[in-house]
Amino acid sequence: MKSWVEISGQRLAANYRLLADMVGAETSVMAVVKADAYGHGADPCAVVLAAAGAEWLGVTDAAEGVAVQASLAQAGVQPRMLVMSEALGEEAETVVEHGLTPVVSNVEQMEALARAAGNDASRPFGVHLEVDTGMARQGVSPGGALDDVLGWLSRQSAISLDGVMTHFASAEIAGSHQTSEQRTRFEQAVGQVVAAGLKPAWVHAGNSSTIDNPADAETATGSLPWLVNVARMAGARAMVRSGLALYGYSLPVEREQGYGGDARSRIRSRLQPVMTWKTRVTGVREVEPGTKIGYNGTYTAPHRMRLALLPVGYADGLRRELSATGAHTGGWVMFGEARAALVGRVSMNLTIVDVTGIQSVAVGDEAVVLGAGITADDHARLAGTIPYEILCGVKSTRCLR
Ligand SMILES: *Cc1c(COP(=O)(O)O)cnc(C)c1O
Repeated sequence: MKSWVEISGQRLAANYRLLADMVGAETSVMAVVKADAYGHGADPCAVVLAAAGAEWLGVTDAAEGVAVQASLAQAGVQPRMLVMSEALGEEAETVVEHGLTPVVSNVEQMEALARAAGNDASRPFGVHLEVDTGMARQGVSPGGALDDVLGWLSRQSAISLDGVMTHFASAEIAGSHQTSEQRTRFEQAVGQVVAAGLKPAWVHAGNSSTIDNPADAETATGSLPWLVNVARMAGARAMVRSGLALYGYSLPVEREQGYGGDARSRIRSRLQPVMTWKTRVTGVREVEPGTKIGYNGTYTAPHRMRLALLPVGYADGLRRELSATGAHTGGWVMFGEARAALVGRVSMNLTIVDVTGIQSVAVGDEAVVLGAGITADDHARLAGTIPYEILCGVKSTRCLR
């Protein structure tokens, strides 16, 4: 194995429990394992999260749901599964056949699901209706369009409204005007649901940052009172959907301009990164001062250097922005507690690091490419992106520890 990813089941479970404690007993946490659990492996992560108490898992599409369900069946745990991207065409049949719960936003989708479920009023098929409260991504607009959907729902009995949900565009901003507008629209939307006589079991909103952001929480209990209140309006249970924090990361909480309240992250420092990406040294060499290193000779050895070769590169998800050229310091890897800086350009399957100061490094030694000492936040900063994209981009053999 050139490189491999170790997934800590214990840390994953601990992060889940931290989030569940944080939101309090009145609110559930959906464990989002979409996009192959953000690069951690949806199958093993789903089993760990279900065993840790997750009642709901969020998956990308029907295919991912079916695969996750199969691993869960072997493990003997069976949480419910929300298919987060709206199902298309024949996906409706898979969703119904496997008892997954789809996110919907219009009548056509629900008609397709009702047909797939055999229009059986004795066993109505549950859906979660997404309301677009201001992200212009997925979901029905509040107001007239929502009333039409709710009208359709109340006139038939093959589809039941099991959940109502929305998503926030700026959950990591403390005192965000956008979030507060979205919340108001969501409250109105849930009001429309209640007025239509529908009784969803679940009302859910937000993500990891919704839990992390202190502006939305009650200081004493840590719960999310606004969400609990909206859910209560509908006689439903409140839920927040969390992905990134499960894997041990969160976006820094930022402050809306002019916001004077608390903007200290509630959980960021207590999350434990779940992924450790490792590789092994395949070569060590010494080079003379002036030696040009890697493609285009962008890095010139300033002195005699000892270099280690690592069999990972951008094909494995190691971002090329971590390259170190003369003008630009790049990323690094860890040998135990010691940092070894990247030198030259990251190649497709190979990367060179400077081990001049770590004389003990030899062929066969393990290096941490991402993990303690070099986090997904570090990679993201260097690559000009977010930790989500870094984690999802790691393409390496995974093992659960
Ligand atoms: C991905 C996603 C989440 C999880 O977001 P994190 O920031 O990873 O916690 C929650 N809700 C929806 C609708 C999503 O698409």
